Amino acid sequence: MTVHQVIVVGGGPAGIAAAIAAKRQGLKTLLVEKYGFLGGMATAGLVNPFMSTLGAGGLYQEFLQRLTEWQAAEEHTFDGELAKLVLDEWLTEQGVDLLFHSLLTGVKVEEGRIKSIKVSGRGEELTLPASYFIDCTGDGDLAALSGVKINLGRTSDGLCQPMTTCFQVGGVDDSLMPPREELTARYKEAKAQGRLHNPREDVLWFRTIRPGEIHFNTTRVTGKNPVSLSDLTAAELEARRQIAELFAWLRQEVPAFKGAYLLRIAAQIGVRESRTIQGAYRLTEEDVLSGRKFTDAIGKCSYPIDIHSPSGEGTRIATLAPGDWYEIPYGTLHTSTFGNLLVAGRCISSTHEAQASLRIMPTCMVTGQAAGVAAALADAGNLPVSQVSVPELQADLKAAGADLR
Ligand SMILES: Cc1cc2nc3c(=O)[nH]c(=O)nc-3n(C[C@H](O)[C@H](O)[C@H](O)COP(=O)(O)OP(=O)(O)OC[C@H]3O[C@@H](n4cnc5c(N)ncnc54)[C@H](O)[C@@H]3O)c2cc1C
Repeated sequence: MTVHQVIVVGGGPAGIAAAIAAKRQGLKTLLVEKYGFLGGMATAGLVNPFMSTLGAGGLYQEFLQRLTEWQAAEEHTFDGELAKLVLDEWLTEQGVDLLFHSLLTGVKVEEGRIKSIKVSGRGEELTLPASYFIDCTGDGDLAALSGVKINLGRTSDGLCQPMTTCFQVGGVDDSLMPPREELTARYKEAKAQGRLHNPREDVLWFRTIRPGEIHFNTTRVTGKNPVSLSDLTAAELEARRQIAELFAWLRQEVPAFKGAYLLRIAAQIGVRESRTIQGAYRLTEEDVLSGRKFTDAIGKCSYPIDIHSPSGEGTRIATLAPGDWYEIPYGTLHTSTFGNLLVAGRCISSTHEAQASLRIMPTCMVTGQAAGVAAALADAGNLPVSQVSVPELQADLKAAGADLR
């Protein structure tokens, strides 16, 4: 089997960008993914739309452009099924090697370097060596298996943001669709009368790119650990119970949904937050809200801190000053101890609060792109990732369309 210079684990928004960026810098790149398709939360999690932020340049813009050419996106709303096809085409066209149905299950570490990873599936077990590895699993699986120090959830009680299974409904009569406040008022009434059992405070819904379809981001499972198999199992069951209840309620009590049908349920429950690594720098709430700028910035973001209550009702939104943004330092993408490990996406080094801003898909692509370029610079100089020249990294990122100062 070919030996790769870089292996990216996880093919969600961060992993896609990391793999393409590394390949474009000339590295022989392998992307390992546990599902049989790419996209992560954007496809398997049915998450939609892309949230708006400053700083979403580079590969995110290319992705959006490709989706638009496929008539798979309107502004920031996209079709998750077509996205799978777009991603197959994009990644193969770029020459990224792909390994699907492959779950990362083991890591061999020697003297602060990852020598190889073990992936398993269909009764087969492969040992894959590489010079550099990028953890884009969202849950920090590679970092955790390597022994990197990990944080989980908020400081007060370790709880993570709630998990949500997104679902879509077709056959909706758009002309009868009630205003948001009215639908939420009815939902609250049904909750108060004990007919709906869901900790979420309102009905969160979006239109898809097609008429007659509504996308729901309304289930909420609190108090479960997203990296515990038994908690995840219970969460999947509870979220689908909520879908059954919500869907029946919509059909029975909201005229727009009288003839509606269940179009799609996400392949897995959506995980907003789980492990984050303890990196060389840990981004904080203060950094985000004060719009802090860093000399080793690899990207920027202006999306607010958006915390769905980990324990019940409520959503906390804390915004930056209008027009302002914060920068994401390179130190959030690596540890000072592991010479050949980079991390990108929602598991980079950040507190519960800061992660609640940078977790959006466009920003995950920004960190992925930076990790891919950083891996190439490290490989060129045979350096530990912490010693990559930041000015060179920034110059390469700008040349690749990143929105940096
Ligand atoms: C319910 C919900 C709603 C959201 N709403 C929005 C929104 O409206 N707009 C927005 O922009 N963002 C939204 N987000 C946030 C966003 O979807 C995620 O934070 C983002 O997708 C994270 O990208 P990622 O690449 O880091 O991880 P993920 O998207 O989680 O991708 C990780 C990938 O790694 C793979 N993987 C994981 N573990 C392994 C392993 N051990 N071996 C092999 N492969 C593995 C997974 O299969 C997956 O493909 C939402 C998230 C959730 C859960």
